[in-house]
Amino acid sequence: MANYPDYNPEDIQRELREILPEEAISKGLFERINNALDPYTSSDDIDRGMVPYAVVWPSSTEEVSQVMKYANTKNIPVFVRGSGTSLHGASKYRHSGIVLNVGRLKHFSIEKDNGYVEFGPGHRVLKVKQMLEEEGYFLPLVPGSIRVASIGGIISNNTSAHAVDSCIGKPRDYILGLQVVLPSGEVIETGTKSLRRPAGTDLTQYFVGGDGLLGVITGIRMQLVPMFASAYGVAYFHNELSSAKAVQRIYMEKAPMPLFMEYLDERVARMSFAIQNLPEPPGSLIMFHSIGQTEEEAVHKVNKLVEAISKEPVIEAKRITDMDEWHKIWLARESALPFICQGGKGVFGLSEIASSVRGLVDCMEDTINMDEGMPTLSKLGKPYIMGHLGALSLHPVYIFPADWSAEEKNKGIEEMFFKEAQINEKYGTCGGEWGQFAKRTPFYRKRYGDTVYGLVKDVKKVFDPNSILNPDVFRD
Ligand SMILES: Cc1cc2nc3c(=O)[nH]c(=O)nc-3n(C[C@H](O)[C@H](O)[C@H](O)COP(=O)(O)OP(=O)(O)OC[C@H]3O[C@@H](n4cnc5c(N)ncnc54)[C@H](O)[C@@H]3O)c2cc1C
Repeated sequence: MANYPDYNPEDIQRELREILPEEAISKGLFERINNALDPYTSSDDIDRGMVPYAVVWPSSTEEVSQVMKYANTKNIPVFVRGSGTSLHGASKYRHSGIVLNVGRLKHFSIEKDNGYVEFGPGHRVLKVKQMLEEEGYFLPLVPGSIRVASIGGIISNNTSAHAVDSCIGKPRDYILGLQVVLPSGEVIETGTKSLRRPAGTDLTQYFVGGDGLLGVITGIRMQLVPMFASAYGVAYFHNELSSAKAVQRIYMEKAPMPLFMEYLDERVARMSFAIQNLPEPPGSLIMFHSIGQTEEEAVHKVNKLVEAISKEPVIEAKRITDMDEWHKIWLARESALPFICQGGKGVFGLSEIASSVRGLVDCMEDTINMDEGMPTLSKLGKPYIMGHLGALSLHPVYIFPADWSAEEKNKGIEEMFFKEAQINEKYGTCGGEWGQFAKRTPFYRKRYGDTVYGLVKDVKKVFDPNSILNPDVFRD
């Protein structure tokens, strides 16, 4: 871990008042601790030495630049905070420093005649989606954390989340350009205002999916995606492995990839269907959403998926025409996690397994058995499993009982990430969501080797020689 000078928080707060308006600085202990927590509050307790000196809320790129210049001069770590929902520890800090919350960077303008939209990183994802939909456009990224995550956090991770990559790609396929404040405080523009993207070196690509290591994204220009027609389907299976086989079949048959293909294992499906007043599902299930320029095209795609799935042992595969039924099934998926938490009376631990197409069935089996050899996880048994099966991504979930000690919960979470890494390595994949580092740093090093990891660190040094920006995203 890097060493930084120790400062008195009051001195830092006083100096920050010289460069920022009073309302852009939170000094209270509660707000400082609150801005240093992540969704796994049990995973690392915050000790006194990690409480941020201050939380700043700049409302312009210029203010961000001032903060970075100041921090760089004094060698103070700056932690950029979207909403702090990172599930792999990127929003959990191990040093004291300044938390730069982007929540007030919220400009938004749709340039229809240029085919793009420009916005600040501080909007909640759902808000951007709603503002685009009002104008007939689609936001091509759909995380489970849509109501809470910031759009800047999602773009820093380059996650398309629920969406199937083979259908719509990743956010980076839509980002035309960025405004970025470098750790030195210098402001740069990347990319283009043309829908014709730069060929060759394009610095935009360093920052989208840059894990927040190289600069603070303060402005995003994204291509507009016109809204499309939709059609829906569902398939029920006797067991988990058949659902994985069906997805393999879809790829093998060259069936048109859906926008979403979500999975619930039987336990999760039963629980969440009951809450939506749906009839008990006969097994595990996948639900899918196809898109087309016309309804006819979308329906054609769903029918092709049903046809491919039906070549595997399936209880039932069908197109859904009743929108009420679809909405309830989708809601069952979207609200599954809180219901599992309620049922399990505890806090969730979620990991992400990504598979190759060929390995999907074995990968599903390994995921089901992820408690094996893990003393803490075995106390809880098999994980609940849900996820984005069409995107080859699974989320095993453990519920750590509320009455477990923080230490025991922490052990369980560590075991979960250990198993996640082991399984991902076996199937030759890397994480498809949440970014590559923080808790995943050991896996990254193992998966790609120290030469590659060293190169990433060298790139970081070029942009951030004093290592003040999000230094804790690396975990070594
Ligand atoms: C219930 C729940 C469901 C979730 N579902 C999904 C899902 O479906 N798919 C998925 O991928 N993730 C999911 N996540 C994880 C999380 O929401 C994403 O990783 C998201 O990208 C984090 O966004 P955030 O605004 O909370 O970022 P933060 O956690 O605040 O930050 C994440 C990292 O990005 C950096 N960062 C943030 N904003 C900027 C910026 N403007 N410039 C530079 N760096 C920045 C931060 O410094 C940090 O390193 C889920 C989380 C929860 C709690």
